[in-house]
Amino acid sequence: MRILVISDIHANANALEAVLEAATDYTDVWCLGDLVGYGPDPNRVIDMVRDLPNLQCIIGNHDAAAVKMLNLDTFNTEAKLVIQWTQNQLTPENHQYLVDLPEKTELEYVTLAHGSPRSPIWEYILDTRTATENFEDFYTPYCFVGHSHVPVIFYLGDEQIMANMILPDEFTRVTLTPRAILNPGSVGQPRDRDPRASFGIFDADEHVWEYHRVEYDINGVQERMRQANLPKRHIDRLNIGW
Ligand code: ZN
Repeated sequence: MRILVISDIHANANALEAVLEAATDYTDVWCLGDLVGYGPDPNRVIDMVRDLPNLQCIIGNHDAAAVKMLNLDTFNTEAKLVIQWTQNQLTPENHQYLVDLPEKTELEYVTLAHGSPRSPIWEYILDTRTATENFEDFYTPYCFVGHSHVPVIFYLGDEQIMANMILPDEFTRVTLTPRAILNPGSVGQPRDRDPRASFGIFDADEHVWEYHRVEYDINGVQERMRQANLPKRHIDRLNIGW
């Protein structure tokens, strides 16, 4: 069984379309939250995600704010503007879809959480110290997270006290051994200086985890952001992947 793992689409339909075209031979999809925020296509993206096969999806901080489950004051001014814009765009069905998403999902051998298993909505796992602490907050061999928009693997061997970190490139393909925290990177707003959409494929039989990048029509999504008067900084950052 091959599972497509995606995160942080952020209402970027062009990037999601490119990922779905590039990903092959998967039967299931895990989506790690932040379907909306920043981008111009909240409803289109939610509609596309809802149609994905055997989907497990969890809520991200932007999703929670877009349905008023989180205080907007926790976001910076520009992010807040887009969340308010998104609140006005969402159809009642898509609003309800986000409301109903769980914060954390535990499957047979994986845990899914947007930020971290310890604090699913908010915490960023950016360093080995935070990762090490978070290994105490899930009980499955593997945990998949998003939120930082940076593809990364943290792993902890049997006798180890501190987690190790791997910053993968697009050709990284590893056979996993318990335990590990894995981030597929961001589909719609990468922040590792590579503007291409990022995603992962998890082979659940072989425990193989592989990273992929795919180019998409950045100009097209930027044009729709301009038309919607979304903040310039969010438009510009798509070009540099930051
Ligand atoms: Zn995000």
